[in-house]
Amino acid sequence: MTVPQSVIYEGECQGCDIFQPLNDLGLCEECAGKLERDLIRKRDWNYTISGYGLGSAEREEIRKKVIKEYGEKLELIASNKPKKKKRKATKRKKKKAKTA
Ligand SMILES: [Zn+2]
Repeated sequence: MTVPQSVIYEGECQGCDIFQPLNDLGLCEECAGKLERDLIRKRDWNYTISGYGLGSAEREEIRKKVIKEYGEKLELIASNKPKKKKRKATKRKKKKAKTA
């Protein structure tokens, strides 16, 4: 799959850290393609180029094709694991002493 895109500037790619022509997302052509496929896998259709203006059935076809050709695993986007946040145990209910 080729993703049509315009090269805006050169710099370090956000995906692979290689200095080369980048698109407006700061990604090289290869990483832009990976991102596109990742978005398709995640069904983030609003951000994809391939799924623009298509119905859900057509989008599913694209997704099937991507997964068939490239697999189900995300290529560029790191899977967002919910990080366990340490809760501060400073929340205590203080009883206000009545001074009446
Ligand atoms: Zn790249």
